[in-house]
Amino acid sequence: MIKTKPLLVLLALIASSLAVKAQEKVPMIKGNVDISVTKGTIACDFVLTNLPTIRNYVIRLNSGMNIHYFRDEKRGPGALDYDVDTKDSIQSDEVKSYFVHENRGNPARYIPEELEVKYVGMYPVVKDSASGYMGGDWRGNVAFNGYSVRADGFQSCWYPVLYDKDTRKRNELVRYDVKVTCNDCDVLFVNGSSPVKAKQATFMSDVPHEMSMFCGRFETAEQNGVWLLNAGMTKEDEAKFFSTANAYEAYYAKQMNIPFKGTLTFVQTDPVADPSKWAFAFFSAPTTFNVGVGKWGLQSLFSSGNSARNKKSMAHELAHYYFGTMVRPGSEFGHVIEEGLAEYMALKLTRSIEGEDVFQSLLNERVQSLKYLHNYKPFSQVKTESDYGNREYYLYYYAPALFTAVEKEIGEAAMWQWLRMMALSKNDHSDYNFMADAFKNTVTDNALQQKIIGKYFESPDALKNTKEELGLN
Ligand SMILES: [Zn+2]
Repeated sequence: MIKTKPLLVLLALIASSLAVKAQEKVPMIKGNVDISVTKGTIACDFVLTNLPTIRNYVIRLNSGMNIHYFRDEKRGPGALDYDVDTKDSIQSDEVKSYFVHENRGNPARYIPEELEVKYVGMYPVVKDSASGYMGGDWRGNVAFNGYSVRADGFQSCWYPVLYDKDTRKRNELVRYDVKVTCNDCDVLFVNGSSPVKAKQATFMSDVPHEMSMFCGRFETAEQNGVWLLNAGMTKEDEAKFFSTANAYEAYYAKQMNIPFKGTLTFVQTDPVADPSKWAFAFFSAPTTFNVGVGKWGLQSLFSSGNSARNKKSMAHELAHYYFGTMVRPGSEFGHVIEEGLAEYMALKLTRSIEGEDVFQSLLNERVQSLKYLHNYKPFSQVKTESDYGNREYYLYYYAPALFTAVEKEIGEAAMWQWLRMMALSKNDHSDYNFMADAFKNTVTDNALQQKIIGKYFESPDALKNTKEELGLN
């Protein structure tokens, strides 16, 4: 028996934070999604409208999906001819990039006003070690772990994502009106809406969101509009969790002077790769996905010796509300802004809420590990990923350490002002010049401005300067 429980979610509150410039069109996705979490299947029949006019476009779709057809709804039921763009290889192992033709023999890329895309996908269902773990798990994986499906929009593209090859702009933020059916699920969740306890529900959002999803059989908890999915926590830990989430949210909102808007949701789930080796978290505004068990699970947020690190990770993900969501990367250096500043903010929050000792040990650990970072370029010269030397160390260790030293030199107030200025700009093509310009507009004392830029942004000795400034060796 299928229960029907239509749900209208008006998240007008989020509108201001994710507002897109008036002249920019935001795609609308309408249609049906059928899921089986035990079989590992997803079948979609979507109609895309209000697509921006992009000359050199591709439609990215997860490579595990098989196209049934593309149709121009206004023309009728005939399937459109299409091609795969083999040069759009940025995410080639996760997605395939399609473009459709107006008619056979005309190779031009064309976007119908109402584009229907119908497709099906089938994925491995990895319950436990007996099923055989996958070699890895990652954000862009469409992951079926036996009791749930997890899929993001940014990387996995489980729904069609229009991409502009010329401006490198992704259009994964969509408005949606989708009916999700999953007969072997108890809870359905589409990012930006509240979870629904049903086997079928219609999710609607007029506010653009990354249409990430998490559906399956699991428990939910809610307090003051904050949702916790599949946490498996004791009631006592649940209460602690909600108060921690509220405190972290309030800290950022106060320091940035930009409030969090929308329903915060936290998803806890098992990876489909060996959970003793694989754990990660990602932020799909306003939802944090925590993929990991044991000491990496949300359950151990308060209990294990890793509590400080786990809480810092939660703080990092929440900071992506500002850097990663309000400000989005438009170049390789954009990732230094996104990850480096999220990590800097997480350390800053840790220092203020969890205490100086916890902060110092996390910072020290980072700076010590940087002895393994070699052959990298200073901020001002980062052009490609190879300029990081090591992406992990550069983004999560080197950059936040430098930002911490900059804060010590210019003062906390100026530091928050700089971050706030960047966040408010809602820049979706962030690069080095964007960051440097915002810095110059914040620190107007010319001598200090030039000193910081020289010492930390341009110097090959920026790390040495950082250690000296922070008194770490
Ligand atoms: Zn991050």
